[in-house]
Amino acid sequence: MRISLASLSEESQTFDLEAPAAAIGERLETGEDAALRVREPVRARIEAYRAGDDVVVAGAVETTFVGVCARCAEAFDLPLKAPIQILLVPPGSVEQEDLDRGEGAVATLSGEEIDLTPLCFDQLLLAIPSRLLCDEACLGLCPWCGANRNSEHCDCRPPDTTASRRLASLAEQLSAHKRRG
Ligand SMILES: [Zn+2]
Ligand SMILES: [Zn+2]
Repeated sequence: MRISLASLSEESQTFDLEAPAAAIGERLETGEDAALRVREPVRARIEAYRAGDDVVVAGAVETTFVGVCARCAEAFDLPLKAPIQILLVPPGSVEQEDLDRGEGAVATLSGEEIDLTPLCFDQLLLAIPSRLLCDEACLGLCPWCGANRNSEHCDCRPPDTTASRRLASLAEQLSAHKRRG
């Protein structure tokens, strides 16, 4: 996902960039997101132009991950799109402190190309939700027989004991609390 500096002018140009799925897949396997796979290549549509000695890059990156639902354990498609925005400045024109504080929004130009691969991958990985759900309304698995409640009906009932009634009312309170957020 590289842009050649020589191809840039003061007029904004569009670049369609692509990285193979396997390249971001390597990042997933080593990261915290091992419950995810990626099936499609990573694609970015980027606008870039020169502004004096600087280069402005903006656009979006997208791919489709395959996640495993935390409730029903089924695999599901997770299409994600993340914004890309970065200002590239000549080396030495900005203090290192300012670069660090810019949290990746400012970087230094080096060489003949701009390699957007790390930035694109970072932005996509940041966009992954912390809890993977096939659907907000996923009913999950029956805790007694393991049936997937989204597609199967079972007749399991919680045993009607004082403890189970207290648990049920506690679960209700918790979800009401979450709804109030
Ligand atoms: Zn689910
Ligand atoms: Zn059941």
